[in-house]
Amino acid sequence: MSHALPTIAVLGAGPIGLESALYGRFLGYEVQVYEREEVGHHISQWGHVHWFTPFGMNHSPLSAAAIEAQDPDRKLPGDEEQLTGGEYVDQFLRPLARTDLLAPSIHPQMEVVSIGRVDSSKADFGGQGQRDESPFRLLLRDKQGQESVAEADVVIDATGVYGQHRNLGRSGLPAVGEQAVADAINYRIPQISNGGLSKYAGRHTLVVGGGYSAATSICALAELAEREPDTRITWVVRHPRGETGPMRCVPEDPLKHRAALSATANKWVGCGEMIKYFPGKSVEAVYHKDKQTPFEVVLEGRDGEKDVARIGCDFILGHTGFRPDCSIFEELQVQLCHVTEGPIRLASHLLNTRGSDCLSQTMPATDRLQTSEPDFYIAGIKSYGRDPTFLLSIGLEQIRQIFALISGNPALNIYQSIKSNFS
Ligand SMILES: Cc1cc2nc3c(=O)[nH]c(=O)nc-3n(C[C@H](O)[C@H](O)[C@H](O)COP(=O)(O)OP(=O)(O)OC[C@H]3O[C@@H](n4cnc5c(N)ncnc54)[C@H](O)[C@@H]3O)c2cc1C
Repeated sequence: MSHALPTIAVLGAGPIGLESALYGRFLGYEVQVYEREEVGHHISQWGHVHWFTPFGMNHSPLSAAAIEAQDPDRKLPGDEEQLTGGEYVDQFLRPLARTDLLAPSIHPQMEVVSIGRVDSSKADFGGQGQRDESPFRLLLRDKQGQESVAEADVVIDATGVYGQHRNLGRSGLPAVGEQAVADAINYRIPQISNGGLSKYAGRHTLVVGGGYSAATSICALAELAEREPDTRITWVVRHPRGETGPMRCVPEDPLKHRAALSATANKWVGCGEMIKYFPGKSVEAVYHKDKQTPFEVVLEGRDGEKDVARIGCDFILGHTGFRPDCSIFEELQVQLCHVTEGPIRLASHLLNTRGSDCLSQTMPATDRLQTSEPDFYIAGIKSYGRDPTFLLSIGLEQIRQIFALISGNPALNIYQSIKSNFS
């Protein structure tokens, strides 16, 4: 690497990609951000859903200062506000992307297809520390299919996980027939009703999964069913029934929105016939039936008992989680955890310190953010791989740690400096 500041490529313009770019630009680095779609694309896909963490946990003092410096009249949401995904993108991410410091660096509609080294292939210099003498080479593709290459000394991969859904079937495998009908299954959280006519009204929807996304869809469907009594709902959850219902409730949960969501989903399941609830079951097979009832779903029990129920339904909502796309760096030497598919050093910290709730996480030592490929970092929700406990507030701290590594200055902390200047 030359003595000039290294150039940085940031992959993805979600909150962590943008914040990484801002932190780098603030320090005087040349930064380019490549985004496959538009700023905040993944969050826009669940734009109608509320964050369960308040806005104060979802942005840094640096980004607030950058927006304020650009437009002193712009009022950011209050720290306690519980925004929807869409409000967060409109009121925070887009204004941030438009700041003078960031705007020229952002390349929307530019997918990163693959990353390698200009002069080293994957098999070269294994573990000998010489790979960083050759810059990274990125293959890019725009929406017209036009391909080009770019180079950078440092790469921060913040491409998230929301682009790759997991499967409906037992043990995470695709259910029999699932792949053939996958285009007709919705693996995201749809807007069930916007007050007006809903395509789910009077129809039968099967929800698969036991997390907060499933609870969000169940609550929205149940509210619709109250107004439109012919609406039918089936909920399939892999784990057996908990004492309070399908959703685990965190004792004295400080995240009020999350607590209310869990309690409401459990309440709907507990009250009568509105939701047909199948705890401890997995999807064994999915078949396309006919126009009248598009799907037939076959369930199996936890003990492997086959064909425990057959359900005809109009819609399937697959809320079984997401996984990282590791193919974009398969020409690099990035060692991944065989459990989570996260980078190994961070993953082993997460597995060894796993607590009962995402809020009780501790930050790892800074060197855990280093991957086995020199100068290649994975940040944000992708750094957790399949581990679902990521919080945006943790991702912001990761950026501070990554720039301490890039700059070689362990004490570097712009967040602290900004806070001191403003207080
Ligand atoms: C319903 C829901 C509610 C949530 N609520 C919370 C919450 O309350 N609190 C919390 O902390 N977290 C919450 N999360 C998780 C939240 O989404 C993440 O914290 C946050 O989005 C992580 O930001 P990120 O920048 O790491 O990734 P993302 O927001 O996923 O951004 C990744 C970006 O990379 C782009 N991209 C992908 N592939 C490529 C490629 N090959 N080339 C170029 N660009 C690419 C994508 O288009 C996207 O813009 C929630 C998630 C969901 C689904």
